[in-house]
Amino acid sequence: MNTCGPLAFIEKKCQGRVLHNEPLSSHTSFGIGGPADAFVWADGVEDVEIVQDAVLSNEIPFLVIGNGTNLLFHDEGFRGVVLRLGRHFKGIVSEGTRVTAGAGANLSKTLSFCAEHDLGGFEFAVGIPGTVGGAVSSAAWTRSGGIRDRLSRVTAMGPKGDVVTKDAPSLGNEHGDLVPDGCIITEVSFQLEPAPENAIRLEMERLMARRKQTQPLNKRSAGCVFRNPEHQSAGRIIDECGCKGMRVGGAVVSEKHANFIINSGGARSEDVLELIERVRERVHSATGVLLGLEIDVVDPWGGMRRDA
Ligand SMILES: Cc1cc2nc3c(=O)[nH]c(=O)nc-3n(C[C@H](O)[C@H](O)[C@H](O)COP(=O)(O)OP(=O)(O)OC[C@H]3O[C@@H](n4cnc5c(N)ncnc54)[C@H](O)[C@@H]3O)c2cc1C
Repeated sequence: MNTCGPLAFIEKKCQGRVLHNEPLSSHTSFGIGGPADAFVWADGVEDVEIVQDAVLSNEIPFLVIGNGTNLLFHDEGFRGVVLRLGRHFKGIVSEGTRVTAGAGANLSKTLSFCAEHDLGGFEFAVGIPGTVGGAVSSAAWTRSGGIRDRLSRVTAMGPKGDVVTKDAPSLGNEHGDLVPDGCIITEVSFQLEPAPENAIRLEMERLMARRKQTQPLNKRSAGCVFRNPEHQSAGRIIDECGCKGMRVGGAVVSEKHANFIINSGGARSEDVLELIERVRERVHSATGVLLGLEIDVVDPWGGMRRDA
């Protein structure tokens, strides 16, 4: 379809910046992805409403992203609108032991805020390079805890401009999506507990040191590529199948952590996808385990794959 009209409308109406043919490689930790037709930095809920309305009524592919640390975009880019939450969505405040952060706030900033305010319970998330919205949407977790355990309220905007709010305890035990499809998370509240700042910082340092030891943090990646099968570690299985160092083009299975695929320079999305397939095939034929994807693979027309 011709998207020129709706995109011009978005550009005219939005307060935030609207970029054309913006390379998505600049917005992902993998450093991979061709241009998006339009890339909007939403500068308030009105911008989100304008974009949602325009893409919905014109059936334009649409995706909201955070820091792009769990995403693989296609080399052809995205034939629609990619939205990122700007300054307006980065505030962090506290009230007692409850911390409320805009969905565009970095997790690292939120963690520091918690430590400064003597609020503990969020240390497990240290080193996860995403935003609050992205972490909630992808249910970020580590062996020491998960973001869902700390949720007190999630606020999102529905596709028709409606505000959706979910409170604990209805958030706690869910395994599926926290907000309905097509909703954009705008704000999240976490329930924490009093703890001395120095103890919080010590625990964060301990966890970060473990991360540095076990993960290739100085390389471009999207974190763990495959989900852990129940009661098993995907990384261990991949390692035992001898996949470390496997390469397709610029994409390489990390020698440091077998569940990380690294962009060693100039990797294309096709390289990563081909490598994913080879790892899955090798693991499947050796063990019978079929690995599912942890990262989101986004095709140019807006489809999202978790099992490429
Ligand atoms: C080095 C490294 C280490 C990592 N370690 C971990 C780890 O320990 N644990 C872990 O769970 N993950 C880890 N990750 C993966 C990733 O950082 C997390 O999944 C993170 O929470 C994603 O946040 P993001 O802002 O980058 O989201 P993005 O990657 O931008 O988006 C992820 C998904 O969330 C959706 N989304 C983003 N923002 C919103 C919003 N406001 N409303 C609705 N949907 C939204 C997107 O559409 C997409 O489907 C790691 C990644 C890297 C590169």
